Amino acid sequence: MSARKIDGKVLAARLRESNIALANRLRDAGVEPKLAILSAVGDIAGNSYARTLKRAGKKIGLTVEPTGYPAGITQDDFSQLLKETSRGVHGVLVMRPLPEQLDPAMVDLLIDPLKDVDGVHPQNTGLLTLGRPRFVPATARSILHLLKSTGVELKGKRAVIVGRSPTVGKPLFQLLLAEHLTVTVCHSRTIDLPGVCREADVLAVAIGRARMVTPDFVKPGAIVLDAGFNWDDDLGHELGDVDPAVEGVAGWLSPVPGGVGPVTTQLLLENALIATNTCLLS
Ligand code: NAP
Repeated sequence: MSARKIDGKVLAARLRESNIALANRLRDAGVEPKLAILSAVGDIAGNSYARTLKRAGKKIGLTVEPTGYPAGITQDDFSQLLKETSRGVHGVLVMRPLPEQLDPAMVDLLIDPLKDVDGVHPQNTGLLTLGRPRFVPATARSILHLLKSTGVELKGKRAVIVGRSPTVGKPLFQLLLAEHLTVTVCHSRTIDLPGVCREADVLAVAIGRARMVTPDFVKPGAIVLDAGFNWDDDLGHELGDVDPAVEGVAGWLSPVPGGVGPVTTQLLLENALIATNTCLLS
């Protein structure tokens, strides 16, 4: 058996077309959509993603303005910078992880909830929990988008998520619950992780450990979604959290690269366009 590939590049290309159409409509209404990104100088991954978003934004007609701040910035100076950066833009994204002297909870609160394209403000996480989502973290949205693209009936199916981070595992739990799956969330203290994962019709993995999920974690025919992004210097590209050998057991598999990543980029840009539209209406 060889799993069917869930092709994130094809799905991202379709989302890019709908983003272009939305950006055009906004410009026709007299608005130039703008997204600000804050990342620490020296944050290689954060700055690289900011450049990716800038390039992708240009292609759809969204201006992305990255700002670097000194890694040793004080909380007060960062708060001031965030306030100033938020003026005149429709969306704001703060790259994580933050330098250790900054308080992530305070930073979440400082972001204007109507410009919070990463869905981290407690107002947005609360709305998602209540089943009334406004801004939802793009990676969690991406995983659901890939899952729905299979066309497989989801209601009542068993889902297992590995990883409980605020930007992937937890919001994905809410999204899958809203689709009527029965959801289990695993983490580093889960006992018999392979055994729990083998119960899953849908297995979503966001751990940050290259190729940790091997074929013995997978129920035959399961849909496996891999959010992992583990840069490999020798190979010159990222590796997923799922071992590609899972292909021999799963029914569907999202590859890395070319799965969750490209769709996440387009959905993040879509969040910024939605924020622009909200500004227009308010
Ligand atoms: P994170 O905040 O570090 O969370 C990792 C989660 O995995 C935690 O809940 C942790 O459990 C769990 N975990 C770690 N080791 C484990 C183990 N041995 N067994 C079971 N669970 C384990 O990471 P994240 O931000 O969610 O990112 C996860 C992965 O997704 C990374 O590879 C990241 O680069 C990638 N990512 C990709 C995208 C994209 O668009 N493709 C976006 C964001 C993140 P505890 O809570 O118990 O510590």
